[in-house]
Amino acid sequence: MKKAIYPGSFDPVTLGHLDIIKRAATIFDELTVLVMDNSQKCKLFSADERVNMISGLLCDVSNVQVSSWAGLLVDYAKESGANIIVRGLRTTTDFEYELQMAHTNHLEYDPIETVFLTTALSYSYLSSSVVREFASYGGDISSFVPESIIPMIKERYKEIGLKDRKG
Ligand code: ADP
Repeated sequence: MKKAIYPGSFDPVTLGHLDIIKRAATIFDELTVLVMDNSQKCKLFSADERVNMISGLLCDVSNVQVSSWAGLLVDYAKESGANIIVRGLRTTTDFEYELQMAHTNHLEYDPIETVFLTTALSYSYLSSSVVREFASYGGDISSFVPESIIPMIKERYKEIGLKDRKG
């Protein structure tokens, strides 16, 4: 039984993340998309909101579940019995950080293996921070995120207050 975890901030989830999730779901028997809730950084969406947002997009994928975790990733792996971490690789910049994390997680918990999936070429430029930047000015994010979550993102920036596009 190959049980994998795909951890990340997903703030918000992008088409790049979804591509990785759907491809990973065909490789592993069970996949948990794990919304990490331990960052110092202030998030646009709460962990529960991010979990709901992602769950709503995956109704048709039967071997994927979505959860959140506020602790160390390896502890989630130990508790859940998962021994594979899936990460997406966009650029060489991702690689340096990812390699460091993979080695550290392996040192902390020997059975854990990190598997990297290369990003779909068309999403290799895409990150949640680019989405947030565009959305904060009321920009068009329809090529970046699934259509169904656009209203939630727009609504959040309406609450926060949109930035002025002309400065
Ligand atoms: P983190 O804060 O842990 O990097 P992210 O939500 O930014 O969380 O990313 C989660 C995972 O998804 C990481 O492995 C990251 O490299 C990958 N990822 C981010 N953006 C994309 C994308 N556009 N295409 C494919 N993978 C991506």
